Amino acid sequence: MSLFPHVQFLVSAAQPTQFPADRGAEIAFAGRSNVGKSSAINAILQRHGLARVSRTPGRTRLVNFFDLGGERRIVDLPGYGYAAAPEVERRTWAPLIGALRERASLRGLVLIVDSRRGIRPEDDNLIEWARERGTGMRIHLLLSKSDKLTRSEASKALREAKSQLEGTATVQLFSTLDKTGIEEAQRVLKEWTQRKNPDDLVEIAGAD
Ligand code: GDP
Repeated sequence: MSLFPHVQFLVSAAQPTQFPADRGAEIAFAGRSNVGKSSAINAILQRHGLARVSRTPGRTRLVNFFDLGGERRIVDLPGYGYAAAPEVERRTWAPLIGALRERASLRGLVLIVDSRRGIRPEDDNLIEWARERGTGMRIHLLLSKSDKLTRSEASKALREAKSQLEGTATVQLFSTLDKTGIEEAQRVLKEWTQRKNPDDLVEIAGAD
């Protein structure tokens, strides 16, 4: 049985006015272009082809919202760090991400970082973005493509990321190829999007 049986694509927003109503709970997914973000979203939501696995890094400049059912959403942010278009990237990215952080429903950031490369300055910027949102905002890192590492390299990558994060975020190994960490990531998503009290989201009675 799927953890998120009601998943569907909601909207692609080129600007904040196109964001869906700010109700319920949403989790942002972000990472450098080509880090494996679309593959991760598809694997976690168990929906093959939901978030398009693009072969052209940096092509997607839209913020995609996916409905998990019961007023819970995933926000798929455009991949960053694509060197060919830094100015375009900056101009479209800043207002979108600025507006996103203002949303009451935003509960957390899942940041995807290539396990072979570790946390880079652009990733740090996003961690800072999430931290500035203040208490109640959670941060979780997926160290992607961990299938490319040996067991000892993988433990080293995990150790280094943990030490760099200094307790401000949780972190795990992740691979869609050998299915490392998919259940762990699903648990995080499920927990973060739970209702805070029984009166929240009354309209979803009966949802999973
Ligand atoms: P995005 O640009 O961050 O959305 O990344 P994609 O999901 O489109 O993946 C980028 C490339 O990495 C594709 O060629 C994928 O097949 C590959 N990829 C994604 N996840 C994994 C993984 O877990 N292991 C390996 N080895 N490759 C992966």
